[in-house]
Amino acid sequence: MLYAILGDIHSNLEAFRAVITDAEAMGGFDQIWCLGDIVGYGPDPCACIELLRRHDHICVAGNHDWASIERVDVSEFNLAAAEACLWTSKQLSLDDVDFLSNLPEVVSQNDFTLVHGSPHKPLWEYVLSTDVAKQNFAYFDTNYCLVGHSHVPQIYAYNESLDECHSIELSDGYSFKLAEQRLILNPGGVGQPRDGNPKASYMIYDSDAGTASLHRINYDVFKTQAKMTKHNLPDLLIERLAHGY
Ligand code: ZN
Repeated sequence: MLYAILGDIHSNLEAFRAVITDAEAMGGFDQIWCLGDIVGYGPDPCACIELLRRHDHICVAGNHDWASIERVDVSEFNLAAAEACLWTSKQLSLDDVDFLSNLPEVVSQNDFTLVHGSPHKPLWEYVLSTDVAKQNFAYFDTNYCLVGHSHVPQIYAYNESLDECHSIELSDGYSFKLAEQRLILNPGGVGQPRDGNPKASYMIYDSDAGTASLHRINYDVFKTQAKMTKHNLPDLLIERLAHGY
């Protein structure tokens, strides 16, 4: 089976479409594993939910997904994120609200645990250091854990006998074999990359071969930005897409 592993779509339909088109051109996929934050920040929340639902998928809840339906409060959001969240909540249909509210916080699937932030704190914690990653290996039972939230593509590998953790930054085309070593994997962000590279980021996992690979895809950033301008979304959120931060 082939899985498209992705997260943090953030209402960026152009980026999400580009990822799906690329994954289909590279041999297709049987299922999408989505790590949350389908909505928030960008201009197309409803269309992104619809596009995800058109495919066989498993999806966990992100902080923006639940903030936009007022299931969690936005007090931890910065001003621009809160403003975009309020705008998003006004766009959602009742069906969208129902879909987002039914997303689970944690899913275990085969050898993988899927969460948005971290297995310890699924909605809010960022795994961005080896210290935080190391602590988190105690909070899931499967060999691998998939996280999003930071929008940075990387792997944390845990050496059980040495009780050590190290990180690997993932660049476009990076391909690797999944072995016995426990890993926390982040496919990067589809709709708002934050590693200095504006290209949409996602992973393909081939369960038969036991391999995974990271992919970075160009999409029409200007088109997304123009839609955001039209909807009066915050300038900061519009500008950052061009720079990947
Ligand atoms: Zn996010």
